[in-house]
Amino acid sequence: MKNIILMGPPGAGKGTNAKRIASHYGIPHISTGDMFREAIKNKTPLGELANKYISQGLLVPDDVTIGLVKERISLDDCKNGFLLDGFPRSLPQAEALTSIGEEISRPIKYVINIVVPESILVDRISGRRVCKTCGAPYHIRNMKPKVEGICDLCGGELVQRKDDNEETLKARLHEYHKMTEPLISYYKNLGVVYDVDGTKDLDELSKDIAKILGE
Ligand code: ADP
Ligand code: ZN
Repeated sequence: MKNIILMGPPGAGKGTNAKRIASHYGIPHISTGDMFREAIKNKTPLGELANKYISQGLLVPDDVTIGLVKERISLDDCKNGFLLDGFPRSLPQAEALTSIGEEISRPIKYVINIVVPESILVDRISGRRVCKTCGAPYHIRNMKPKVEGICDLCGGELVQRKDDNEETLKARLHEYHKMTEPLISYYKNLGVVYDVDGTKDLDELSKDIAKILGE
């Protein structure tokens, strides 16, 4: 059972690596950030609530996020494994996930912690672009599309996320250090943390992660 959490600060490359891992193992990629952005795009009540926090670089309230994830990982397609990207991000979220895992017999087996120095994060985030249509990630220097401004995969338009500006990023990094980084100790106590070097190129990093996760 590959029940995996991908952790790391904003800009660590969680989304990009998550897509690779999920498709390699044929397990669902569950990104709370993507779920919120989808809700915002569709102007649902959840989206309206989430947007208030996301636009300020703050965490969406725990009860909302926990409910969303509980529902998602209980679905049938998660029975052989799932990859969480961007969840948990706070101690109450992690504790809730542990008890949900017990309740539905889907415990977390691996926490892949992507380590990247702070100086690199700012450059990565300010140069990040995403496909408006399919969400695929790019970077204006490090991960260019074949045609500028156009998604390689679907031809969609590449845009900058609203929360990828310097000011919001500061708040997001602050939230990360205050709320999320302590989770590494929580999971170290459970003996499931594996650090990987997020400055390596993507193919190398995928190999490192595959060594940890096995077949
Ligand atoms: P990042 O690149 O910062 O890791 P994400 O796409 O994972 O971005 O998340 C974007 C925003 O969505 C976060 O800054 C936060 O406001 C909100 N969010 C995502 N996941 C969670 C979560 N587990 N708990 C609370 N808020 C979340
Ligand atoms: Zn696309």
